[in-house]
Amino acid sequence: MEDYNRAGLAPFLACKCPRCGKGRVFKKSILSLGQFSDTYDNCPNCDLSYEPETGFFFGAMYWSYALIVGTIITGGIAMKFLGLWDYAIGGIMAFLLLNIPIIIRYSRMLMLYVVYPMMYKEKFYGHPMDEE
Ligand SMILES: [Zn+2]
Repeated sequence: MEDYNRAGLAPFLACKCPRCGKGRVFKKSILSLGQFSDTYDNCPNCDLSYEPETGFFFGAMYWSYALIVGTIITGGIAMKFLGLWDYAIGGIMAFLLLNIPIIIRYSRMLMLYVVYPMMYKEKFYGHPMDEE
């Protein structure tokens, strides 16, 4: 059996470390313009490296793409059912622009919570997974 000890949904939503669920991931508040995506190098609590290799966070692009497309589809369907289809393009664009910091931050959080434990098991769990 693998002793997975990945943090759960609450630390994910609170932007905490994917391993211990306590250390912060981002240095600044989500409201600090231009610095909302600044990430610590290591977890301040358990010292997990947040960037297992150079360019790790480039993968966040794919997550942000998925989040944006999902928002457009969901928003389009919602606007249609609310009878606001005429305002769908403007409304969804405005919603996306306002939520850019959230999309960027949670794209990085998805990299840390989904991709990191799958691709960098030794670094994430601190020991090879086949160890008994
Ligand atoms: Zn940690």
